[in-house]
Parts: sequence; C-alpha cells; structure tokens
Amino acid sequence: MTNLNKLSLKDVVNGVREKKFSCSELVKDTVSACKEEKDFFAYITLDEEGALKKAEELDKKIVQNEEVGDLAGAVCAVKDIICVKGLPNTCASKMLENFVPPYDASVVSRLKKEDFVVMGKTNTDEFACGASTETSYFGVSRNPYEKERVAGGSSGGSALAVAKNLCTFALGTDTGGSIRQPASFCNVYGLKPTYGLVSRSGVVSLASSWDTVGAFSKTPEDMAMILNKIAGKDRKDSTSLDNPEKDYTSFLNKGVKGLKIGLPKEYFSEGIEEETKALVMESVKKLEKAGAEVVQLSLPSTKYAVSVYYISMPAELSANLERFDGIRFGHKPESEAENIVDYYFKARGEGFGTEIKRRIIIGTYVLSAGYMDAYYKKAQKVRGVIIEDFKKAFSACDVIIGPGSPYPAFKIGEFIDDPLKMYTADALTIPVNAAGIPSMACPSGFTKAGLPVGLQVIAPFLSEGRCLSVAEALRGL
Ligand code: GLN
Repeated sequence: MTNLNKLSLKDVVNGVREKKFSCSELVKDTVSACKEEKDFFAYITLDEEGALKKAEELDKKIVQNEEVGDLAGAVCAVKDIICVKGLPNTCASKMLENFVPPYDASVVSRLKKEDFVVMGKTNTDEFACGASTETSYFGVSRNPYEKERVAGGSSGGSALAVAKNLCTFALGTDTGGSIRQPASFCNVYGLKPTYGLVSRSGVVSLASSWDTVGAFSKTPEDMAMILNKIAGKDRKDSTSLDNPEKDYTSFLNKGVKGLKIGLPKEYFSEGIEEETKALVMESVKKLEKAGAEVVQLSLPSTKYAVSVYYISMPAELSANLERFDGIRFGHKPESEAENIVDYYFKARGEGFGTEIKRRIIIGTYVLSAGYMDAYYKKAQKVRGVIIEDFKKAFSACDVIIGPGSPYPAFKIGEFIDDPLKMYTADALTIPVNAAGIPSMACPSGFTKAGLPVGLQVIAPFLSEGRCLSVAEALRGL
C-alpha cells in the first residue's frame, strides 16, 4: 500500500490490527509527505527519529501478537503549546525556543497509553494569540488550498497537517476559536469540547477560564474515537469534568430526523461574507431535507463577545505569562543586565513578540487598581449575559449552526497590521468559549474561488454527542 498517510484514524487502527501494513510503513509515508510539503510549514519540530522508533516498537509487539493500545500506530501532530516529554515546546515564541518539557500533558499521556505516535509539534501563533499563525516566531503556515493565504490560527499548523495528510489526526487548543477557525480554513473537522472536558494539565495556559483542548480529524467518526480517549476527569486539572456521554461513537449514524437546528440571525447578518452565509445555508438545507427542523432565533449578546474576550483574555494571559521571567522559565537576556528589573525588561522585551506585549499591556491595565471594576469585572458580567443567551436559545433548539468564521482564509499580510480587524476573525467563535459549551467545525463547501468554508455545530454543555451526530449526518448528504 502507498500513501498510508492519507488514511483516516479508523482505517489506520483497523489496518494495523489486521496487519495490512506496519506502523513503520505508515510513519515513513507520513514523513515523506511532511518533507514534500515542507513549504506549507505545518511543523515547528518534526520528530522523524522518535516517531519511527515508536512505530518499530509497536511493529515488534504486533508481530509477536502482544497487546497494543486502541490507537496503535496513529500518527499525531501536536500543537506546540501542548507538552510532549523530550520534545521542544516553543509556543512559537523566542521566549521558549529552548524549552524542553520533562513531562507529558495529560492529554498526551492518555493517548500514549493507547500507543499513538507523535509526529511532531505544530506551528501556532505565539502563545496561541492570533488567528493566522502570522505571530509565530518561526514563520507562517500556508493554506492548503492557496499558498498565499493563511491556514488560520492559532492552531493553523495542526489544521494544515490534517488537511495535507501530514498526520492521521492532530491536537489543538481553542480559547477564542483557534480550532474551529483553522479547521474551517483548511476543510477539516475541528472540535472544541466543553470547557473542562479535556484536561488542560501540561498545556501552556493563556486565559485559564477560556482555554480548551480539542482535536482535528479527517472524519466525524475519527473525532468520536479521539474524544473517547481524551475526555474525562483528570486529578491534575481541578477544572476538569467527568465525561457523561461515555462512548462518543454511539452518537454516530443517528440521523437528524426531528432535530431542531437553531439559526441565530446575528450569525447570518451584515459583516458576514455573502458566499460564506450561502454555503452554510446550503448545508442547513440539506439537513432540513434529511428531516431536521429549522428554528430562527437570536443571540443578541453576540455583538459584545469580541469586547468581552479582548478584556478578559489579555487579563488572564498577562497573569499567566508572568512566570516567563528568564529565570525559572524562558529566554535569558542576550546582554548583561544591570539589576533584576533590567534583567526582566531584557528577558521579556527580547523574548516576547509584539502581539504578546500588546496583550500584556492591555491585560495589566484592565486589572489595575481603579480599572478592574470598570473593565474586567464588567466584562465578567457581560460574559454572564452571553451564557444566558445560549441557555435561552437551547430551550428552543437542540443545536445551533453558524459559520465557523465570518469569511474564508485571508491573504498572508492582509490583516496583520490591523489588530482590530484580526480580532473580528473570532466574532462567531468567541461567544461559544464565553459560554464554555462545545462546538464542532465541519466542512461546508467551497467558494467560487476555490476556498473552503466551514460551519460550526454548537451544542449545550457536555453534549458533544450532538455535534458529532450532526457532523456525521452532514457528511453523508
Ligand atoms: N484568535 C483568538 C486570539 O487571538 C483566539 C486564540 C485561541 O483560541 N487560542 O486570541
């Protein structure tokens, strides 16, 4: 067999088990694809040696009919803010260029128990702050459908790696849209789970009350298989939750008969690109034909979400990034410091890029005495209003559908000098993070210019099964 890198997770798992091919053959095919597509820049670190070693170990076990894990052989691309023991975890920042974590993130150790293979660490915006990977210290990931455009962000490298078959599946994080937006730009599936469903332990914290860990896959079934392994309570993360739905594959092939789909008017309003709206509506029509019912509704607080996020997120980020002082963690100054304050200035001044500095300044400002009530606390209150909006909406429908991004992939350089414009990329994804609920990005056709458009299926708290069920149904239509 050739091009094993193109297989879905399900086919990889079955193929390895049935000895149709070996794990080493799969890794070799994946490595050659990675080398061929190097210019797209999916990976910051490619661990060819480590991946091959693990694959050979597995092959030996399989030949001897020894027990292997449920995901044996599956090749995974891991976003470079999720720690993998022994591999650099740069966060795409000069600050952590040389940081090699001595442990695995919980999500990684769970997958290691199932014998997955880590292919490498993928590109992201610096500390996952951005929507295009353009703030990465190492370079920009290119769109798989048009090289002069972005792959999206911040988990752009992971989305690209799945789209270009440079892995079997990928891990990413979504604080304000970083899984769903790149998934939409790259025509792959991307799940942002309920806040707390997947442990954040060992994942570099940005905004602790917003951060979630999720995945990118080639099919909804693959996503269910991945979620089965990564969801659930972890004692290393006090915010983590038990997984009430247990087997996510049981939600597949259920159809959509009688399912109520809510369409918020704000997600199809002015400012959302016309072709994007039309393509998302085409998918909704297909679901309607298959028996779903459409309910028009409103999420009136949508317009506040970007403002709430860009107060709350930088506030939490600025506190979390305090630890990178060049002493315990991070870049050490390039020249001699005169005193400790000078040392901090140099370490942080040299180590962080512009977008991170901007957010630290905003974050410390909105938390400072006198401003905390006016900005941070007020934002928290408005966040409560967004949560209530979703609760109300879900009393009238089972899932909500809207675009995964207001527009398709933009050109490299188009938004980078205009932070406010870049922040609008998250206008339709942030509300979901504010409410802590799950949402899954799914492919929804192509524009006339050939760029993919994605939609998101949003479900109530801890109802990932519904996202998977709709994604699977839509795939077959
Ligand atoms: N684009 C958003 C930001 O810049 C979201 C990032 C994320 O989800 N990690 O903060």
